[in-house]
Amino acid sequence: MRARPYTLAVALAGTASTSTSCCNQIRHHLPSLTSFPGSAHYNTTESSYWSLQESDLQPACIIHPTSSQHVSQVMSVVSKDPDCLFAIKGRGHSPAAGFANIQGGVTVDMTGLSNVQVAPDHAVAQVGAGADWLHVYQALEPLGVAVAGGRNGLVGVGGLLLGGGISHFTTKVGWACDNVVNYEIVLSCGKIIQSNASHHSALFHALRGSATNFGIITRFDLKTFPQSNISITSLAHDISHRHAVFGAFTDIITATPFDENVSLVSGLLFNSSSRQWSLTNSAVYAEPVSHPAVYGNLSSVPSLRNSTTVMSLAKFADEKDTPPLNWLFATATLRPSSAFMAEMFDILNETLYEFNPPAGIVWNVALEPLAGRMLHTGETLGMRTTEKGYIVLLSALWPAAKSRERVDSVARDVLCRIEDAARRKDLLQRFQYLNYAAPYQKPLQSYGFDNFDFLKQVSHEYDKHVVFQKQLRGGYKVV
Ligand SMILES: Cc1cc2nc3c(=O)[nH]c(=O)nc-3n(C[C@H](O)[C@H](O)[C@H](O)COP(=O)(O)OP(=O)(O)OC[C@H]3O[C@@H](n4cnc5c(N)ncnc54)[C@H](O)[C@@H]3O)c2cc1C
Repeated sequence: MRARPYTLAVALAGTASTSTSCCNQIRHHLPSLTSFPGSAHYNTTESSYWSLQESDLQPACIIHPTSSQHVSQVMSVVSKDPDCLFAIKGRGHSPAAGFANIQGGVTVDMTGLSNVQVAPDHAVAQVGAGADWLHVYQALEPLGVAVAGGRNGLVGVGGLLLGGGISHFTTKVGWACDNVVNYEIVLSCGKIIQSNASHHSALFHALRGSATNFGIITRFDLKTFPQSNISITSLAHDISHRHAVFGAFTDIITATPFDENVSLVSGLLFNSSSRQWSLTNSAVYAEPVSHPAVYGNLSSVPSLRNSTTVMSLAKFADEKDTPPLNWLFATATLRPSSAFMAEMFDILNETLYEFNPPAGIVWNVALEPLAGRMLHTGETLGMRTTEKGYIVLLSALWPAAKSRERVDSVARDVLCRIEDAARRKDLLQRFQYLNYAAPYQKPLQSYGFDNFDFLKQVSHEYDKHVVFQKQLRGGYKVV
């Protein structure tokens, strides 16, 4: 068994004993769906988290619902005991400790709700909240339709849609959450409701990007659109060509009119063991065009690899799982400037170059356009006041658990330096993308005062006893 960091174990000790009675009460209602440490069912969930920070936590019990009624029974027990602390797990891809798991509490593993059903006219797909995106795409592909969802097929439907959701089609159809037409949600009291534009409409709007503040979603109904194959240009460049790549990236996002088939991720990777930077581009085009003109300048930058393939969304999303590692996410949103991208690289290099923790670390700084329909939808996310630009995802992966605090501190320092430099040049935007944010960041507040206030009001209305604020410990809160 992996050693748990001492500080975390001490800080969280005690919650296990108070949760035992809660687990037993739930077991009374759902005997075959409640698992305890040491059982195979429990271990399967524990080993399915993406980060070691999450799988190191050991809940007192794990509940494996397969229907909304099961989830309702769980919430009816949980909401009666304020000491009953819980977590909700979708596909376990949020890296931060405690966001989808809990030490000594009750973890509700939603992966048993993963059915995909399509309406006879193929216009809407009803997707169980515990599904992963690969299975959604595989179910839709034979019908010639797709939905806006995760680019990596292993990522969960639940977490991605509750945080906003950037898909290959986001610049064309908006944030993934804007394509939800109905939520089936279990409220803290156990009541199951449908929330859409006509019923519980305030909740419907609040759910678009507000994470785990209002209830447990059991089903998302998603708008589909016709979709054939997509085109993927994969580029790798020597880091010395970064100025040309940053220029081409900036030209693509600032072009008028903007090509809404663009789905681009530029990545700066640094390996502390080899002290090498590399630069990659995943340039996807949402049409089956083998060499999309929009990527012409990017493709003409001298490259170490330059390949284009046309394939189905499901095939492209079918990525291999990564081995369990420590992971960290943090984010910022910037206005376009190729000069500042070069300055950001210098800050990253100065800060990260000398840092080589035991067994090494890999940093990956992903740069993703914030453009097209992303700016015209995302109402709850505060997009109305957000400008064109790009989202920075600072991520790190490393094997040694003992380096966690140090890595967190280095990541915070480098992000702070980037933000300060961007702020001085008026290039820092307020928006922080929730699904890429670090635990200390404030993505919900970044939606703007009015939107945050609206989320608070909806929370007061639908969760009067603040169960999702107090008993659900992980994630970002509105109260
Ligand atoms: C490899 C990888 C690729 C990614 N690719 C993309 C991408 O293409 N686009 C993008 O926008 N983001 C992407 N992300 C970020 C991703 O959207 C978030 O990590 C998201 O939270 C993952 O959702 P999940 O269900 O897998 O994770 P989980 O960790 O299980 O859940 C995330 C959060 O949502 C809550 N939650 C989950 N299900 C429910 C539910 N049914 N009801 C209430 N709360 C729930 C959990 O409690 C948790 O707080 C990626 C992340 C990784 C690690």
